[in-house]
Amino acid sequence: MPQILSGAPVQARILENLKPRIQKLSRPPGLAVVLVGENPASAIYVRSKIRACHELGFHSDSHQLDASVTTEDLLQLIDTLNRDPKIDGILVQMPLPDHVDARQVLEAVAADKDADGFHPTNVGYLVANRPAPRSCTPAGIIQMLKFYDIRIAGRNAVVLGRSDIVGKPMALMLLHENATVTICHSKTHHVAEVCRRADLLVAAIGRAGYVTADFIAPGATVIDVGINRVTDAQEAAAFGRSAEFAAKGKVVVGDVHPIDVQRMAGAFTPVPGGVGPLTIAMLMSNTVELAEKHLRAETLADAGPAPAR
Ligand code: NAP
Repeated sequence: MPQILSGAPVQARILENLKPRIQKLSRPPGLAVVLVGENPASAIYVRSKIRACHELGFHSDSHQLDASVTTEDLLQLIDTLNRDPKIDGILVQMPLPDHVDARQVLEAVAADKDADGFHPTNVGYLVANRPAPRSCTPAGIIQMLKFYDIRIAGRNAVVLGRSDIVGKPMALMLLHENATVTICHSKTHHVAEVCRRADLLVAAIGRAGYVTADFIAPGATVIDVGINRVTDAQEAAAFGRSAEFAAKGKVVVGDVHPIDVQRMAGAFTPVPGGVGPLTIAMLMSNTVELAEKHLRAETLADAGPAPAR
């Protein structure tokens, strides 16, 4: 039987380790969450992020804006949050409506309040392997591999997907952990064959059950980032989830076929319950790190300039 890499104990460990750090701070870490429009999935994500803030005693500041909001309105809000000394991290929930310039909005978040690790400055620090907020989902996956003592160094890792949020930062983080990394994308030839060479396979493409048995080397570690809603009874049945479908009318599956992965992998993350819980934990971790940095800078500023020699 393959090892099931559950996210819950990893999340619990990450959050537990944050508590003493939060207690040492002279004020609670502050996270501002900006949500635009009525996307139900985004609303669920934002609610869980705010709940996590409350559980850890953060100061949280939630801004729910109408879908008709303009880029300029959002830039103004970000500017206010950038200047707010109670706010250490700012998160703009994606996706934004099409008429909003998402790139401009994300880049307006000050690099030292970028709780998501998306700002180009922080991406640069990731490339250079220097400390800075890291993209939460891939950072959580590294924590998970370490929690379960899964070796990364020297292994052949294949990352399926090259998004700025998951695929690219994942590949860089695995490289910094000394894996030999290959990235596949929609133009890659013979994807299954490339994936089959992986000791460690990370799938982040957003296609339900795309990674089948012929993608997986026997005994490989398979990390499934995908979150795909299946609303067709027959498709749910092909994933072995008929009973759940009958009860709920839909099921959530990953990018990896849930039956095939059980047959082939040495270890794998289930969907749901694998990678999902780690993203919020790393968001909290990034925010605590930013709060520590801001409070250190405030202490230095209060101490005034060093005496001249
Ligand atoms: P994205 O921005 O849509 O990127 C998808 C990537 O997959 C692209 O690089 C695309 O290639 C590649 N791709 C698509 N079809 C492919 C194929 N047939 N073969 C090879 N590569 C293919 O998606 P994302 O934001 O990275 O998210 C990926 C999945 O992870 C989604 O299901 C998302 O919901 C989920 N997700 C989960 C979490 C979590 O907390 N668990 C967090 C973030 C995302 P091109 O670049 O060539 O188009």
